[in-house]
Amino acid sequence: MVAAMPSRRTQPPALPRVAVLATGGTIAGAQGRGRGYRSGIFSIESLIAAAPGVESLARLDAVHVASIGSQDMGERVWRALAARTQAALDDPGVCGVVITHGTDTMEETAYFLNLVLRTSKPVVLVGAMRPATAMSADGPMNLYNAVATAAHPGAAGRGVLVVANDEIHFAREVAKTNTTQVGTFKSTHRGLAGLVSAARLHFYAGPVRRNTLSSALALPARGKLPRVEVIYAYAGMGRGLVDDAVRAGARGLVMAGVGNGNLGAAAIRAAATAARAGVAVVRSSRTGGGIVERNIEMDDDRLGFIAADELNPQKARILLMLGLAHTRETGALQQLFYEY
Ligand code: GLU
Repeated sequence: MVAAMPSRRTQPPALPRVAVLATGGTIAGAQGRGRGYRSGIFSIESLIAAAPGVESLARLDAVHVASIGSQDMGERVWRALAARTQAALDDPGVCGVVITHGTDTMEETAYFLNLVLRTSKPVVLVGAMRPATAMSADGPMNLYNAVATAAHPGAAGRGVLVVANDEIHFAREVAKTNTTQVGTFKSTHRGLAGLVSAARLHFYAGPVRRNTLSSALALPARGKLPRVEVIYAYAGMGRGLVDDAVRAGARGLVMAGVGNGNLGAAAIRAAATAARAGVAVVRSSRTGGGIVERNIEMDDDRLGFIAADELNPQKARILLMLGLAHTRETGALQQLFYEY
């Protein structure tokens, strides 16, 4: 009797392995009895179970890193998340990582990881605008598409990505632009990294600035990152907020300036005093789009300021914190805003 040999042709191809790191957010949130809801209630296993078919895209290794609303995201969780993500990426059997995250500060975490991770493998952040218990919850499809993206070789070498509402965004470009709508994420300056519709992927041009493998901005092994505050400018602004931030110990200030990163005269005087005292002052814009250039309506060279280029204030803060951990020199910090 001849034993039946498994035919090569009938062997299903091995599925790629994707690590899924959970941090909380609305994607894991539950509605209360009234209008409200709480973030980060459901386990990552139950989120995966709610995305039928995801198991046919990849073998998933699910890990809990945190269970928070992303308004509580900060350096402590970022450090843990960066370490866990890098460890997963360094496993030769893992082809990519998905991170579930609240949408409020997703762009900050994505940009932070974009600068400190060292990998060419896909890293995809995903969230949802509607809680897992809501009518037409967007989390399951977003998670399904995020896993498809992380498992796809075309997503490699693009830095950290954000997947939501059938769109694939670059970490540097994406911003949350709406409080409630599922199409909240926009990449205003340079467009999308790609599209993903029920796991069918289309990739466009690559990222334009340094990230992951080409980033030189490592997370210092010890100590806290230098304190950087964001200050929102407005008509009639005085100097008080700037002076207070410096007195409180800020090593850097990101001004969410009006228009092209502008400030009124009193705030300029306060910021110039801060810059002379060694505090890095970055001019970004509260407009949500456009480039802040040097020496347009303000003499940055004389005042000792740094222009944020295209980074919005919250991302400029991330770059400045990491930059200040490496250098205090104004010219070198300015160069970072042109390169990252
Ligand atoms: N505040 C929540 C968070 O960022 C809600 C936003 C969301 O996840 O959609 O975690």
